[in-house]
This record gives sequence, C-alpha cells and structure tokens, in this order.
Amino acid sequence: MNCTACTAPLDHDAQLCPGCVRGLDVRLAELPVQYLLLSTQLRPGAARGDGPVALVRVPPLPVREDVLDMRAAGGMVTMLEDWREAMQNARGWGRPARTGSIERRVMAAARGLQMNLDWISEFFQGAGDMAREIRHLSGQTAALLDPAPPTLRVGDCAADLGGDICGAPLRVPAGTTDVRCRRCGTEYPPHMWMTLATGAWATPEGAAA
Ligand SMILES: [Zn+2]
Ligand SMILES: [Zn+2]
Repeated sequence: MNCTACTAPLDHDAQLCPGCVRGLDVRLAELPVQYLLLSTQLRPGAARGDGPVALVRVPPLPVREDVLDMRAAGGMVTMLEDWREAMQNARGWGRPARTGSIERRVMAAARGLQMNLDWISEFFQGAGDMAREIRHLSGQTAALLDPAPPTLRVGDCAADLGGDICGAPLRVPAGTTDVRCRRCGTEYPPHMWMTLATGAWATPEGAAA
C-alpha cells in the first residue's frame, strides 16, 4: 500500500501518507488567505512598494489577467468546490451549496475539505489526485503573489519537507544560473534543471537541500 499522492509506502491501509496529509492541511488553511492577498496583485507593480496608489501619478496599468482568472469563477474557487462536491458525493452526502461571494465560497470549500481530512486521507479514492492538484494550485497562487519578474520556468520544487513535497514553481532569474526555491530555500544547480523540467525526479539524494 502506497500513498496515492507521492507513492511513499504506508504502514496501514490509507490513501495518503502523513506528510501529504500535513501538506494538504496547511495548503487548505492557506488558500483562503492567499485568495484575499491576490486582490493586491491585480495590477502589475502593485507589490513593488511604489507607495499609495493615489500618489503615484501614472496612468492605471491593465489588470493582470492571470490573477483575475485565479480569482474568478472557474479558478481557485471551482477547483476547491469540485473537490468538496466529489468528497461529499463519495460519502453519500448532498451537494454543498455554492452561494455567496467568491471569497466566502473559497473559504467554505477549503474548510469543508479540511474538516474531512481524516476521512479523505483514509478512504477517499480521489485523495491522491486531490492532494496533487491542490499542491499545484497552491504553487500557482504563490507564484502569482511573488512580485519577481517573469523568468524561465524550470519545473516544480521537488524538495521533501518531512514527507511533503514542496511543489513551488522554480524559475531561473534573468541573467543568472542560480535556481533557489523561494518557498523552502532548496538550491538547484543547472545539471538538475532538465530532470526538474521533465518531472522525472526520482533520486532521493537529488532533493536534498
Ligand atoms: Zn504522500
Ligand atoms: Zn521548495
């Protein structure tokens, strides 16, 4: 029996290993906060500390569509609500309501999943896919909140944080070859990039910080 998210061996019948459960728990707690923070990223440069918007005498910049998409119906809220509905369906429960502001819906869906994490990690057939998708969603959101300029993307951080894979997006900053995970600090020399980019991350020593 192996973890359906990271394939680590399990000592009893379950869907997720303790590390993946912890990671999922933390991400479900963080996502509603990240959702709120995204509203500060709607305009490019908003996070550069230019001072109060009203004092910056430049024409308004266009809205960032990637941030808008994540905040709109079909973005974060839909992924969380779909998983909550799948979970409730698997338990024979009714459909959860999808009402109120998107902010409230994100919070309700994330809470609904978090409160059922014990059952999900033991029994939910979709737990592995759910953990992986939410890890990716959380990484994407972190990247949107990261004010660094767009650079070459090399893959997701494969560092093992006590059983939970970090999963934050990794980029090569312009003009350098230093790839360092902004979430956990793991460094990746250039010879590891191809492995990261292809997702063929297999060697345990490779993920050592
Ligand atoms: Zn796992
Ligand atoms: Zn990392």
